[in-house]
Amino acid sequence: MINVTKTFLPPFDEYTAVLKRAWNISWITNNGILVHELEQELKQFLHVPNLLFAANGTVVLQIALKALGITKEVITTPFSYVATTNAILWEGCKPVFVDIDNATLSIDADKIEAAITADTQAILATHVYGIPCNVEKIQEIADKYKLKVIYDAAHAFGCVYKGKSLLSYGDISTCSFHATKVFHTVEGGAIICNDEELNKKLFLLRSFGHMGDDYYSIGINGKNSEFHAAMGLVNLKHVQQILEQRKMLSEYYTDKLLSLNITKPLLPDGLVYNYSYYPVIFATEIQLLKAINGLKKISVNPRRYFYPSLNRLPFIKDQTIMPISESVSSRVLCLPLYNDLAKKDIDLICTQLLIQ
Ligand SMILES: *Cc1c(COP(=O)(O)O)cnc(C)c1O
Repeated sequence: MINVTKTFLPPFDEYTAVLKRAWNISWITNNGILVHELEQELKQFLHVPNLLFAANGTVVLQIALKALGITKEVITTPFSYVATTNAILWEGCKPVFVDIDNATLSIDADKIEAAITADTQAILATHVYGIPCNVEKIQEIADKYKLKVIYDAAHAFGCVYKGKSLLSYGDISTCSFHATKVFHTVEGGAIICNDEELNKKLFLLRSFGHMGDDYYSIGINGKNSEFHAAMGLVNLKHVQQILEQRKMLSEYYTDKLLSLNITKPLLPDGLVYNYSYYPVIFATEIQLLKAINGLKKISVNPRRYFYPSLNRLPFIKDQTIMPISESVSSRVLCLPLYNDLAKKDIDLICTQLLIQ
């Protein structure tokens, strides 16, 4: 079985060697040496000033909304993983969907202003597949209407846009280090911001709102452990090679699929991409379903990622139609892409897709 993704696991001894440092001093959670070291190394690798390692890529969205005092309407994308919408709802806010751009598949910045009301407080957009949102236009709108900007950058690890880390745009960016992502810590995530004061607030929110015996604010348990940090420290040593391998495999796919009637999302100029996914968009849903069936026959398991369009989730009250997001969602497929995917497996997949 070839799955859409396969978790990268480093040599076991590399993991235990790092973990042993925490084990030896019996300090396995609560911001120990490995968490601290991972945060320092991630800041360097990603070129961001502040970064907090957290439990996962969902709680960081909740913490971001909480830290910025968001309680009402949040303008957001319908084309993302369900966690983006859920975080807004979980925080008691209202998601207001704005359709996506046909080319980059991120929120269409030109449609945001029309969705702003007196209750709008923030824009929460996803750099979907690691492809940047229109960050300049979004910031312009945010400045004009005094809105906060949060980026769900769960797919954007290692992406550089216009000379800066893609994670450094907006008031807060969040990342996921889940086992299925380009860089992982088994479970994990991060909150990134440029502002020192905001970072202190985020630090407190992540750890019950207190430091030692001093209690400052409400808080949640969004911390992560030394076991997870150890995985991160080891994987960070491999991540450059992983990114290069994914680029090579993606380009191999692209060569092989030249004659197939599909489109791919547009990578804008000025992007150093991380090849976090290999999404292809079929002309019709019927062609997509045919492709899935064909691939299943040769034991390949691609993923309809993202489907359905989030405005169609059964628990969304206001089911406004999002024509582009709904159309793309019904036709997009992520093909298998992971570090040790063999070229001959890509040959197999592409041959199957081409004989439909
Ligand atoms: C994976 C993902 C998340 C959630 O991250 P977890 O670490 O699994 O909680 C959030 N948003 C997007 C866009 C994702 O792909």
